[in-house]
Amino acid sequence: MARIHPEIFFFGAGVAEGRADMRELLGGKGANLHEMASLKLPVPPGFTISTRVCTYFYTHGGKYPARLKEGVAKSVARIEKALGRRFGDAANPLLVSVRSGARVSMPGMMDTVLNLGLTDETVKGLEAVSSNPRFAWDSYRRFCQMYGDVVLKLKPENKNDRDPFEELIERKKAQRGVTQDVDLNAGDLKDLVDEFRALIRARTGRDVPQDPREQLWAAIGAVFESWNNDRAVVYRKINNIPGDWGTAVTVQSMVFGNLGPDCATGVAFTRNPATGEKGIYGEFLPNAQGEDVVAGIRTPRQISLAAGREWAARNEISEAERHARYATLEESFAAVYRELLKVAARLERHFRDMQDMEFTIERGQLFMLQTRNGKRTAEAAVRAAVEMAHEKLIDRATALMRVEPVQLEQLLHPRLDPNASKHLLARGLPASPGAGAGEIVFSADEAVAVTKAGRKVVLVRVETSPEDIHGMQVAEGILTARGGMTSHAAVVARGMGKCCVAGCSEIAVDYSAGTLSANGKVLHRGEYLTLDGATGEVIEGRVPTVEPAMSPYFKKFLSWADAERRLGVRANADTPHDARVAREFGAEGIGLCRTEHMFFAAERIDAMREMILAENTEQRARALAKIVPMQRADFIGILREMAGLPVTIRLLDPPLHEFLPKEEADVRDLAAKMGVTPQHLTQVRDSLFEFNPMLGHRGSRLGISYPEIYKAQAQAILEAAVELRAEGVRAMPEIMLPLIGERREFEVLASEIREVSRHLASSNGTRLTFSIGTMIEVPRACIEADQIGAVAQFFSFGTNDLTQMTYGLSRDDSGRFLGDYLERGIYKYDPFAQLDPEGVGGLMRIAIERGRKANRKLKIGICGEHGGDPQSVKLCHRLGLDYASCSPYRIPVARLAAAQAAIEERRARRDFKDL
Ligand code: ADP
Ligand code: MG
Ligand code: MG
Repeated sequence: MARIHPEIFFFGAGVAEGRADMRELLGGKGANLHEMASLKLPVPPGFTISTRVCTYFYTHGGKYPARLKEGVAKSVARIEKALGRRFGDAANPLLVSVRSGARVSMPGMMDTVLNLGLTDETVKGLEAVSSNPRFAWDSYRRFCQMYGDVVLKLKPENKNDRDPFEELIERKKAQRGVTQDVDLNAGDLKDLVDEFRALIRARTGRDVPQDPREQLWAAIGAVFESWNNDRAVVYRKINNIPGDWGTAVTVQSMVFGNLGPDCATGVAFTRNPATGEKGIYGEFLPNAQGEDVVAGIRTPRQISLAAGREWAARNEISEAERHARYATLEESFAAVYRELLKVAARLERHFRDMQDMEFTIERGQLFMLQTRNGKRTAEAAVRAAVEMAHEKLIDRATALMRVEPVQLEQLLHPRLDPNASKHLLARGLPASPGAGAGEIVFSADEAVAVTKAGRKVVLVRVETSPEDIHGMQVAEGILTARGGMTSHAAVVARGMGKCCVAGCSEIAVDYSAGTLSANGKVLHRGEYLTLDGATGEVIEGRVPTVEPAMSPYFKKFLSWADAERRLGVRANADTPHDARVAREFGAEGIGLCRTEHMFFAAERIDAMREMILAENTEQRARALAKIVPMQRADFIGILREMAGLPVTIRLLDPPLHEFLPKEEADVRDLAAKMGVTPQHLTQVRDSLFEFNPMLGHRGSRLGISYPEIYKAQAQAILEAAVELRAEGVRAMPEIMLPLIGERREFEVLASEIREVSRHLASSNGTRLTFSIGTMIEVPRACIEADQIGAVAQFFSFGTNDLTQMTYGLSRDDSGRFLGDYLERGIYKYDPFAQLDPEGVGGLMRIAIERGRKANRKLKIGICGEHGGDPQSVKLCHRLGLDYASCSPYRIPVARLAAAQAAIEERRARRDFKDL
């Protein structure tokens, strides 16, 4: 059959006018419905209106393209024909859902209306054909509610206000002395329809339209409008989704999970989204519809028997009670369960990725309503990628591309110390792993306010909804009283890599009193709470944490990454402990060891201050003599940890005044200790004052003015190497001069260091192996890289300073206006977080080219903050750097990003060849 309209795509009843790869046009949800229909899976027929119509709608003041109305009418007729039911027919009405769906999934952000087509007249027809008045009125009251909430916008903006319709339902249940929605009978539901409509009339002056076509167009308009509702806008901002993509609208014939006990609705994953373990995993509710499972109105049941037993054990429910009240799909819908397993396997094979599916069972028959690649925790992402590669579902390169590099950091963060004593308050669902501790807050705004004040929070809610996202974003962990493993809180927390305990029914939350009570205990706002997202434990107070261990899947995954990547990965580490952690995480050396931190320890800073206060070279040398042995010990520790691997040590970099006390009281104390007057000290401090310390007396300029400082540091480094050598430990120090911008500067300092080394070698009778190189962090150094490269053995891009100087933008002051630049789209990202490929990257390209031309063996790396940012790591790969250096916890991130860069490069080459 020919297409009805260029912007309308029909699916089901044996056709599929769209495909999975048309998500830009059909939205993710729509595109996959088409794909499922083309796989001949049981999908209720329907049609999708393209995202182009949404764009048109917004650029034409809420109008639709030509002939769309006609196209929609014809498409509805096509559904009618397929199902033998007519839209608006009083005897046997066709009902539809009107569903939103953007290019990328934005869970719960936009709206959907179900059971559309019900009116006072058609509801009677539905009653008759279903022989189930309760079902008919349940569907009608749901429709009135959704129409009121979504189309007439009665859904409360403020999360603490309850949905007015839900309040009426609560009141009805109380009147009738029942606790569950399913216990309301047809008469109650009929009353509710009247009450809902009275409420709608009172609040809006309008009624639920009694013309199904009017309902349909109002709902289509409302879905398009929902693209720009506040929560969708916030979500897009957080997730960097362009505002002009728009949503598609899918109009689909209804199937009913609320027709009775042989009906149900549920969600299922092909693998466990928290752990990645293979096997169907999910929840369902008998005699329910749509979002009932995730809304947490009744306790959802597990799909597989195994998961059901585990769930019961965790909730201390006996096997007998579980079987009687919470029978699994495997038990109560055995045939459907088997079919679902087949469909799930088919979809996973087809999409070659873990699927997250929505399904409904109508009178024992399975219908698929949605499938998408499932959101998963980092742990699950890694395990599923490795296992899917083992299953030959995907190749190793694809497995590596499946995991977001930044996600890996989650796997390295501390977990609760299993041996610590803890006061268990309650137990909920282990919805998203990790440990989180902070002060109790009860709203998203409060979470934001308290974290702005520099404190940590745990966000406690009865349940969360999209309005809470900004609070979830800043919280250490999220705790909800209601909702299952697929509730909003659980899904969003997993996506954010944030710890979450959901559906903790043992707790009672009182927003107005600001309390959280559980098992006879009452905790107040501001008190500390710890969550364990891996076990679902809610614990009073603060629990100590331990370092995580790398799982076998994680190790295997990273070994695949190492086999792919060309870029080396090193760590920025200043202490033996950091060095050890870095090595465990796979660092191939240290790219930046800062020495100034070594001066800040209590017993050292005095020696340092003595050095600064020295009035002549001799005094300075005396003070430095105290520092050398301390630094030597530090270097021994680090070089020992990194035996056999290179360690780049940067000589003193910050301006000296940073080491002097600022407070008057401290000045007096120090003066007394040093035997000088406070006036003298203040005078010295003031003499060191600089208008622009960033461009002042720092870096190699210190070495030029006070040669003794760098010489002393070099001595400490080389002596450490000699000492280790005697022990048989291979130390490979690389001495790095900061802030070099001129060849002579480097030559002068390097020759002084070589002098120290010669002296040491002759007195020890050994030959020392070390190299001298420079940080490349001023633009002049990039331009003069042929000159500097001719005398240096290595370059390391200090991209923090290089970015500041390239942009002429102080990082510490940029906070005030960078937001404006991002907001107005002038900068696409913060250049201090992500390396600028054009400007800063352009200078780097020049430096690399000129440096290597002058010195073929020049080793080149990066040690700025950017070394741990995946996009920047990829840029470093493309620039041909030898290594990237980043903080220890970022090492796996960098290893994966480097592998992905290599894979992307290979794929681009292959695509180019194919042209
Ligand atoms: P969301 O993006 O919020 O999940 P959906 O469009 O998927 O919104 O719909 C909300 C709920 O309604 C889902 O549980 C979905 O399975 C259900 N639903 C949508 N369309 C139909 C339909 N035609 N028949 C039965 N249930 C439906
Ligand atoms: Mg939803
Ligand atoms: Mg959905």
